[in-house]
Amino acid sequence: MRIDAALAWATQQLEGGQSPSVDAKVILSHLLNQSQTYLFTWPEKHIDDAILAQFESAIAKRQTGEPVAYIIGKRDFWTLSLETSLHTLIPRPDTEVLVEKVLDWALAKQSQIPVAEMTICDLGTGTGAIALALASELPTAKVIGVDFIEEAVALAKRNAKQNHIKNAQFLRSDWFSAVGQQQFDIIVSNPPYIEDTSPYLVEGDVRFEPKSALTSGADGLDDIRHITKLAPFHLKNGGLLAFEHGFDQGEPVRQLLSNEGFSNVLTVRDYGGNDRVTLGTLIR
Ligand code: GLN
Repeated sequence: MRIDAALAWATQQLEGGQSPSVDAKVILSHLLNQSQTYLFTWPEKHIDDAILAQFESAIAKRQTGEPVAYIIGKRDFWTLSLETSLHTLIPRPDTEVLVEKVLDWALAKQSQIPVAEMTICDLGTGTGAIALALASELPTAKVIGVDFIEEAVALAKRNAKQNHIKNAQFLRSDWFSAVGQQQFDIIVSNPPYIEDTSPYLVEGDVRFEPKSALTSGADGLDDIRHITKLAPFHLKNGGLLAFEHGFDQGEPVRQLLSNEGFSNVLTVRDYGGNDRVTLGTLIR
């Protein structure tokens, strides 16, 4: 079958889904080990039978709702290609806003703390997305990513290796439990923040992702509360705490940070215009 015909067939099969045409292209370009541009450049090329069989089975999986990132085992985030697994959340574009804001802060702070000495801790690192994006942009900073799930730690380490990032370490830790007395310049986290009983959990891709990476108590704020309480013990004077959170959690998260003594607390919107990231600095 030709590439254009295969894409047209798959797009039709996925009709009614979240993004039929994009999904078809992402899956086919992955199976052909080519860029998506290749698909447009060579629409008349024939796909061999073995690949076509894999394509059909991948499209059948997508029809059951399985996320593309789990089907192909990877997802692009920032400038990186990350391996994904069922043990962790799939990196989201909105999380790049958190990376951008932390980077802005780090670069502005450079005159006081040389990047070479900057230490960063990413809590609940999952695939390692945030830790690795920051480490890649700040190659002389020292980044630690922690996760409670052993498989996530192993995955993040593989992702560091595959992306040739040497200044990020990963360890198993229940938030700060294994971090010891260490104090950082930056603590960043995209923790679980969805309400336990949210109807959003039974729709779309999120159904396939681990609850441990998604939900956090009745109001979704249990983990953010816990981290915010402990963060002052692990931040240097003047250090930054930065969270991703739910679209309706800007106000309560700002309140939590203020209550724990953080200053310059502000919320930033994501690409969809929703409150998504809140930051504050600890000035003792
Ligand atoms: N932003 C994710 C979602 O809405 C949730 C991620 C999280 O809980 N950290 O699906």
